[in-house]
Amino acid sequence: MDKELFIGGEWVPSESGQTMVITSLVNGKPYGRVSLGSRADAVKAVNAAEAAVKAWGRTAPSEREDILLKAADILARKRDDIVDVLQNEAGSTFGKAMFEAGFIVNIVRAAAGECRRVCGTTYATDIPGAFSYSLRRPLGVVVGISPFNFPIVLGGKKLAFALAAGNCFILKPSELTPLCGLLLGEIFQEAGVPPGVLSILPGKGAELGDALIGHPAVKLVTFTGSTVIGKRIAQTCAVKLKKVTLELGGKNPIIILKDADMDYAVQASAFSAFIHQGQVCMAGSRIIVENELYEDFCGKFSDKAAALKVGPLEEKDTVIGPLIRSAQCDMIGELIVDAVSRGAKLLTGGGWEGNMFEPTVIADVTPEMKIFHEECFGPVVIIAKADSPEQALDLANNTEYGLSAAVFTNDLKQASFFSENIEAGMVHVNGPTVRDEAHIPFGGIKNSGLGREGGRYSIEEMTELKWVTIQNEKAHFPF
Ligand code: NAP
Repeated sequence: MDKELFIGGEWVPSESGQTMVITSLVNGKPYGRVSLGSRADAVKAVNAAEAAVKAWGRTAPSEREDILLKAADILARKRDDIVDVLQNEAGSTFGKAMFEAGFIVNIVRAAAGECRRVCGTTYATDIPGAFSYSLRRPLGVVVGISPFNFPIVLGGKKLAFALAAGNCFILKPSELTPLCGLLLGEIFQEAGVPPGVLSILPGKGAELGDALIGHPAVKLVTFTGSTVIGKRIAQTCAVKLKKVTLELGGKNPIIILKDADMDYAVQASAFSAFIHQGQVCMAGSRIIVENELYEDFCGKFSDKAAALKVGPLEEKDTVIGPLIRSAQCDMIGELIVDAVSRGAKLLTGGGWEGNMFEPTVIADVTPEMKIFHEECFGPVVIIAKADSPEQALDLANNTEYGLSAAVFTNDLKQASFFSENIEAGMVHVNGPTVRDEAHIPFGGIKNSGLGREGGRYSIEEMTELKWVTIQNEKAHFPF
């Protein structure tokens, strides 16, 4: 599978002539070759978007809606192709790939629905003889930078809502998953997106980032990825006074209070922690259990983790497949050694071969250990003990991150206390930390990000709000 860059409605080789081979995570064989975008290609893509932006911004909502609905239908039709690329390129298990391929259809349909809801407000006014209202206008050219872990959903969500709002959009997919990004380009092209409105530009973030972000025609950078890179992008945007939204990392707490339904909590926690080998921003990787349930929970949860099927991606019931790169395993290994040397107990796992990391559970973890704070992005869960709900809350909030959180309890007062006081953008009572819907305000606080994505929240981020008054009677002036 050889793919070129998608710029200005055409498939073109990179200006530098550089290409990159993608090796399949399913079988280790070459899966595809992709053109690697250069700075010159980045400028070309922005120029193409700038040329298309006025006409696209003026399209009727029904026209954009029609294209997005067609794209959703094509995405549904091409489900098997999407699953194939997600498995081979992103190392998705069959179940995760099927979920992602289904969810993107949902997202694009939700974005289609938003085309007719790009609206402002009318205001009561003290100005005599005036009519006062606000309207939303597209921003212009939007750049999206996406990570490797959910490449279709995370790239596709930015793309669909940007187009729905009337913006032109350039996607810079992760260099680990360029084919996923390019497949989105093919599908939206087939759906009828006009030339220039969408470009897909695989390449290295370190090289393309500044060329894209620094271009004066780019009005918004919407980034999903690590906190380190997100902060760097935010700094560049700040200097240019450019709008930025950031969906960043997490070290998401799951709190299990003494009255929780234990077996259900074990199951929900295992799903939160181990889906996609823990390579999920919302992964419930930090479990805090109240004293009374602690020993019992540790036993049941580590048994559950040890029983998960670790295996090849070809087998449809594999739960734990490979990590995206083996370097990740070394980093996680060091965190485990540090924790154990400071008194943590390794209950199961801890080993790896190549990029296959065993599902791992570590108990008696405290905030003094690095692993309590650092995102592992692997199938590794830590468990800490709390003597009271108040201590559980303190432990939960003892993190630089604030993306997702879960609390397991049947006590209504505790449920509302925790949902109000956990420092996170998303809290689930008796549900997993890994949860998303196309129309909800997805996003984090603290070092987990800025801004929200999904439904009208994406539209709000991707438009500018303009206040308008129309003076129907002459106004009076003091001089
Ligand atoms: P990453 O290393 O930060 O990369 C994300 C994207 O940024 C990639 O496309 C990357 O390109 C690009 N990039 C790198 N350096 C850049 C630069 N100087 N300028 C502009 N772009 C640059 O993250 P990742 O390893 O792909 O993904 C894992 C991280 O994403 C985790 O921290 C996870 O929690 C977070 N994440 C957050 C969410 C959320 O919604 N909050 C969702 C998913 C993942 P290259 O690939 O070419 O380096």
